[in-house]
Amino acid sequence: MFVDEATIEVMAGNGGDGCISFHRAKYMPKGGPDGGDGGDGGSVILEADEGINTLYDFRGTHHWYAEHGEAGRSNNQFGKAGKDRVIKMPAGTIVYDEQSRELLCDLRKDDRVVIARGGRGGHGNEHYKSSTNQAPRRAEPGEPGERRRLRLELRLIADVGLIGKPNAGKSTLLSVLTRATPKIADYPFTTLSPQLGITEIDPARRIVLADIPGLIEGAAEGAGLGHEFLRHVERTRVLLHIVDALPSDGSDPVENYKTVREELFRHSPRLAEKVELVALNKLDLLGSDAERQEALLRFKRALRTEGAAQEVLPLSGVARIGLKELLERLWALVSETGVKPTGWSATA
Ligand code: GDP
Ligand code: MG
Repeated sequence: MFVDEATIEVMAGNGGDGCISFHRAKYMPKGGPDGGDGGDGGSVILEADEGINTLYDFRGTHHWYAEHGEAGRSNNQFGKAGKDRVIKMPAGTIVYDEQSRELLCDLRKDDRVVIARGGRGGHGNEHYKSSTNQAPRRAEPGEPGERRRLRLELRLIADVGLIGKPNAGKSTLLSVLTRATPKIADYPFTTLSPQLGITEIDPARRIVLADIPGLIEGAAEGAGLGHEFLRHVERTRVLLHIVDALPSDGSDPVENYKTVREELFRHSPRLAEKVELVALNKLDLLGSDAERQEALLRFKRALRTEGAAQEVLPLSGVARIGLKELLERLWALVSETGVKPTGWSATA
């Protein structure tokens, strides 16, 4: 399971203090009590937002405050209540109290949960006026707001799965593209652990990428892909197939592409049905743009001869060639605004 996690501290606002004051006016030296109540502190509220799919935002911001209530004032003026703080979180976020480890909530679509309640404002002395006490010198302090450390956990779904032969450059690309590395929970089924990262095109567009390991590696060792893992990546929307343009073992890029497709089909026909984008990688090994264009065209032509009219993007993870175009294209596919290319299949 891919898990994104974060720890944050939430602090609700304190209630404002009640005020001690007596009415003063000309010719009325002994006016009655007129100290107003303090305002309530704001609460911290968690709100499920379907537009957010990671806990990325909580890596940088650990403290979340709501406003304090204002103190009461003379003339029976109440203090203003503090504003609530609404924190938007992905639906599916599981929230624990960090200290007690208690499960506080499992945030679902449309949920809105008060996670730290604001303190109540204190009564001013006007409140304590009675027939026996015309001049109370007593007011209440505001209550402190609740504060809590929260542990957030979110099961991530990989938007994009990376496939390709060993050494095609998958890990390198992942490390170049991703800025956050979510945790990967124990995989009981294989010694090959997947790699996972979150890439950010801009704050509104983030893509979760997962290296799908062992497709070829594991098959050779007889391990294959665990069912557990396959089930997990079945919700992946797009496959990014990395092809080494100039394999050091002298193998043919088109043959390598086909081998991976065949393995994929054998191990998981459902994965093989996914939208597939092909990237011809390591093009930095060619000296000029003209040579890169030429290699790209040659590769595409050869693929077409094999019956795979694939969309192929030029790439170099190491030299950062074509990254921006690749991300834009992936985003279009992930967000389902782009035309979908499906992968080649030997049986087709
Ligand atoms: P993986 O097995 O698909 O994860 O491949 P790796 O990312 O581990 O890369 C395998 C080898 O290819 C490493 O030696 C990398 O340094 C090299 N490599 C990866 N990407 C590029 C690239 O864009 N250009 C070049 N020249 N080498 C690369
Ligand atoms: Mg690797």
